[in-house]
Amino acid sequence: MAGLSLKNIRKSYASLDVLHGIDLEIKSGEFIVFVGPSGCGKSTLLRSIAGLEQITAGELRIDGVLMNHVPPSKRGISMVFQSYALYPHMTVFENMAFGLRIAGMGKAEIDRRVRRAADILQLTDYLARVPKALSGGQRQRVAIGRAIVRDPRVFLFDEPLSNLDAALRVATRIEIAKLKETMPNATMIYVTHDQVEAMTLADRIVVFRDGRIEQVGTPMELYRKPANLFVARFIGSPA
Ligand code: ADP
Ligand code: MG
Repeated sequence: MAGLSLKNIRKSYASLDVLHGIDLEIKSGEFIVFVGPSGCGKSTLLRSIAGLEQITAGELRIDGVLMNHVPPSKRGISMVFQSYALYPHMTVFENMAFGLRIAGMGKAEIDRRVRRAADILQLTDYLARVPKALSGGQRQRVAIGRAIVRDPRVFLFDEPLSNLDAALRVATRIEIAKLKETMPNATMIYVTHDQVEAMTLADRIVVFRDGRIEQVGTPMELYRKPANLFVARFIGSPA
């Protein structure tokens, strides 16, 4: 099956059991939002999918292929974090191109990919600038651009907008919504604390609690029929 398949994913750090058996099927092209209280294991699950953590048990498949022992760089996944570490001495273009150069990609293809990402993210006029000459929102778009140029099958976003002020957050959220339209085949998982982000971006929302999935559904399903008060609180549902 195309997409992402998680079967009974468990993760412990020494004696701390963080993920207690996560089962989730995500279709190729779906935009999935993870919500849940701080410490419930959302970042751990994203890092496990990316291969930055070794899972303790379970099976992770991308497009049907078992990924458990595939190194991060070979999984076809790009991850965008809350803190976007750009190279301060490099231009926007170079920041986006750097990983591709390291991977040995040809100049023309790098150029094509960076320009396409810049076009999607409205950074075309800023390609020659260095990060300190950009706003916080533009910098975070460069970080997203670095993820786009790798042309991944799966994007993982870990609270990418939480360091931005409210106005920039809205603007950047709109860019991310456009990203979903521009890259319809890419599967996206997006962690957020922001109800508006969750409700507007998600095809389906996954609500986590203490390392388990509490409920999965479309924003409307969760809003109309939250399984319990815990879910209702996260969705902002009146139930
Ligand atoms: P969330 O992203 O939902 O806030 P995390 O996945 O970051 O949750 O953390 C889940 C739990 O795992 C927390 O109790 C956290 O302290 C613990 N944890 C996260 N990373 C590590 C680590 N590298 N080593 C030990 N414990 C960790
Ligand atoms: Mg986290």
